[in-house]
Amino acid sequence: MAMDGIPVPDPRRARFARAALKRIRQRRLREYEAMMVTGFTRTCPICGYIGEFAPVGEPPRLDGVCPLCRSRERHRLFKLWIDRRGNITKEMSVLHFAPELAFESILRARTGRYVTADLLRAKVDLKLNIEALELADRSFDLIIAHQIMEHVDHHKALAECFRCLTPGGRLIVTTPVIETWETTYVNPDMTTARQRLLHFGQKDHSRYFGRDLKDHMRAAGFDLYEFVSVEPDVSTYALVRGETLYEMTKPADAAPRPAKKATKTMKKG
Ligand SMILES: [Zn+2]
Repeated sequence: MAMDGIPVPDPRRARFARAALKRIRQRRLREYEAMMVTGFTRTCPICGYIGEFAPVGEPPRLDGVCPLCRSRERHRLFKLWIDRRGNITKEMSVLHFAPELAFESILRARTGRYVTADLLRAKVDLKLNIEALELADRSFDLIIAHQIMEHVDHHKALAECFRCLTPGGRLIVTTPVIETWETTYVNPDMTTARQRLLHFGQKDHSRYFGRDLKDHMRAAGFDLYEFVSVEPDVSTYALVRGETLYEMTKPADAAPRPAKKATKTMKKG
């Protein structure tokens, strides 16, 4: 019998496997328990806390979360980007999808116009579908969309963000990517929550990006810069090694696209 298309062994072997699994899991739990406290001193670039961090995630990532502001690795990477490359000024208008609370206050204080958006969440300024933005062309200087692209049709989302950015404007994206995969893994047969968890790493993800994501970003018209976590930042701020924040810039000489309906259809794959 197979559940969700996942093969399972015969009953006798399954019983043996269950007993072995229990022993392995108990041993791992004890090991994890011992590892939870690393004793390392980390710095949070968001709230300024200096001290021990806590584990987060499944399986636990050691020192993943700041105990004071609850920031995770990708949040701290984004804060480093803001500090080092953001060039965020009072003249800028910013659109922030699925806004993280810590950044709302930081960005609202530093920018001229700060707008939060989400399709499902209630406490945002605008209810927006990133695949079909009900916004005027060239209406924002900076669009932030962390952990969004893996949930949506990213070709449509990239095209729409490009359209709504001012020339020279930037789109900031983080998303799970397997750099060693040449192409993005999509599988329309994976429709249940369990299948998506198994194949895409989370029950509401619809694909797992390979490095061709960068081709898709360039094909949408953007110039691409990769802000990557490296040492000594990784050990100082407790970042995920090699995690990438994609900074996409709409070229200053980008011609306005004619009409929303006529938005260029992106090539798949
Ligand atoms: Zn913090």
